[in-house]
Amino acid sequence: MKDKICRVLEELCLTPGLSGHEKLVSRLLKDKFESFGLDVTVDTFGNTYTRIEGKNSSKKVLITGHMDQIGFFVKYIDEKGFIKLERVGGIPEKTLSSLRVLVEAKDDTYVEGLIGVKSHHKTSPEEKYKVDKYQDLYIDIGCDSKEEVTALGIKIGSAIIYKPMFVRLQKDKVSATSLDNRIACTCLIELAERFSKDTPDCDVILAGTVQEEFSIRGAIHVARAVNPDAIICIDGGLATDTPDLSGTGEIIVGSGPFISLYNFHGRGTLNGAMAHPSLVRLLEETAEKAGINLQRGLGVGSLTELAYMQNEGMGIAGIDFDIPMRYAHSQIETADLNDMIKGIDLLEQTVRSVNDSTDFATR
Ligand SMILES: [Zn+2]
Repeated sequence: MKDKICRVLEELCLTPGLSGHEKLVSRLLKDKFESFGLDVTVDTFGNTYTRIEGKNSSKKVLITGHMDQIGFFVKYIDEKGFIKLERVGGIPEKTLSSLRVLVEAKDDTYVEGLIGVKSHHKTSPEEKYKVDKYQDLYIDIGCDSKEEVTALGIKIGSAIIYKPMFVRLQKDKVSATSLDNRIACTCLIELAERFSKDTPDCDVILAGTVQEEFSIRGAIHVARAVNPDAIICIDGGLATDTPDLSGTGEIIVGSGPFISLYNFHGRGTLNGAMAHPSLVRLLEETAEKAGINLQRGLGVGSLTELAYMQNEGMGIAGIDFDIPMRYAHSQIETADLNDMIKGIDLLEQTVRSVNDSTDFATR
């Protein structure tokens, strides 16, 4: 199972999918779902989902995971062929200088590039510990003129992503670009395979969603179309087990998945989500029965698409379900394959426990 999950995750992490440019990831998800004999819907925005009809219940559970990743757009190409960029999503600027990137060119192809960095010998003592703003950075793809760049099909609005990377570390940990949120896409694919072979009682809809890193609202259309009784939103969640975050939470990579009880963005967006008590109860009871350690986390500074989806219709019970992840939004996001497997097992058991008597009301 570990190697199987790892192979799917690697394939997904190496596939480019900037916010609004999720086509290749969507295609991959669609192919995988269809390979299990499932029908797939790709909506106007690119949300990609499959619905498995339950055997014996009118209840509907929607499980989502966003397909997109952070990155940049080409903003300006200068006469010498250097490219200036605009950010898409929460980019950590201190990780950018001397980074390798891919720039979207003709017909869904990508060309190699790098973010330039001032030669060390010319760096003054004052500049040495300064973080360059993304507006001051530039990309070098090796071309010598604007004409050479545009001849490759690179234009204003072309996508730029961190050069995809995936490595296995010790103790079943993996490090990659865009673990956020190909972790969730991997979970969706494995769940689709399991549910296609043995259908649960309730309906389950597995959805790869778009534009989370841009506006967090891409998933709204899925929730609206499906109108589920409950939503479980999978994401790479912030682990707090590194020296720099010690004392800020109890989320440990390798200790199992976690539920987020409360999140709130708090920086310009007055939105967040509180875990619905019925789903906290359901997941915690199922975890206990299955012998899976389920961690608890919360925090200000982030939010997920659940914040918006839960307000569809008359309101939908929802919960954030996370796989612990270190170094969020950097090029070296790190997680543990065992947490993913336990997360998938727990989600499978949770969905299988839902029937007509399951109560998603607040008690
Ligand atoms: Zn995410």
